[in-house]
Amino acid sequence: MTESVGARGVALVTGGSRGIGAGAAVALAEDGWDVAVSYRTQADEAAEVVAACEALGRRAVAVQADVAEVNDIERLFETVTNELGRIGAVINNAGIVSPAGRVADYDLARLDRVFRINTIGAFLVAGAAVRRMSTARGGKGGVIVNVSSRGAVLGSANEYVDYASSKAAVDTLTIGLANEVASEGIRVVGIRPGLIETDIHEEGRLERIGTTPPLGRPGKVEEVAALIAFLASDRASYMTGSLVDVAGGR
Ligand code: NAD
Repeated sequence: MTESVGARGVALVTGGSRGIGAGAAVALAEDGWDVAVSYRTQADEAAEVVAACEALGRRAVAVQADVAEVNDIERLFETVTNELGRIGAVINNAGIVSPAGRVADYDLARLDRVFRINTIGAFLVAGAAVRRMSTARGGKGGVIVNVSSRGAVLGSANEYVDYASSKAAVDTLTIGLANEVASEGIRVVGIRPGLIETDIHEEGRLERIGTTPPLGRPGKVEEVAALIAFLASDRASYMTGSLVDVAGGR
């Protein structure tokens, strides 16, 4: 195993091929982390993110992995550790949203998909991180940043109550896990973005609800990425179990 040469260590960003994850990868690289990005299908985009991190003087790798598959997650952590060294930060970011719809019209396939990726995927990634970071298991500690959504507390009526609920469970994961592993050298924090300009949204959603927060506009990827980099760093060393909104006042 090679030890990290990154000033801060190695950060793994799930769903790092585009959007908030890609922005977080670059912000972490700017902050001195070596960076691993995982992607499900977008190899070319992930390679561009790796190149952007390398251009900042950091080591970076891209690894294909579906966060809804246990075997993929284990392979992801092993590959990153072998190629870059011990993982010190995990950004639990991979996620999907549902199309606009009302609860009464949801079918099982829709519910299964959004909870499987957003909730179960987040649990599986967090568990894999803890098994490697915990000082009680021979690890050296670390930080987990869970990417939730402001929708978790707003409910997101008429848009995606299922998605909002899948993220509310991630908030509970953040609070509970933070308490479980605080004495094992691991901080766990969550962020709740409002509507952010990425390709996750179906056509028309940004126009429909993007201007409704007090700040009157959707957020930018960089505005979320900066928060993630801060929370992953030692500058946030007294924060754990925290849920931080980055939602334009919504
Ligand atoms: P995005 O669609 O641009 O990026 C999502 C990333 O997750 C992609 O890289 C995608 O490949 C990956 N991904 C999806 N399913 C996956 C799976 N099963 N396995 C591995 N990777 C998978 O979306 P984004 O807006 O950047 O969203 C990133 C995170 O932020 C998500 O968890 C999302 O719920 C959350 N979020 C986004 C917004 C927003 O308005 N954009 C608001 C609140 C929360």
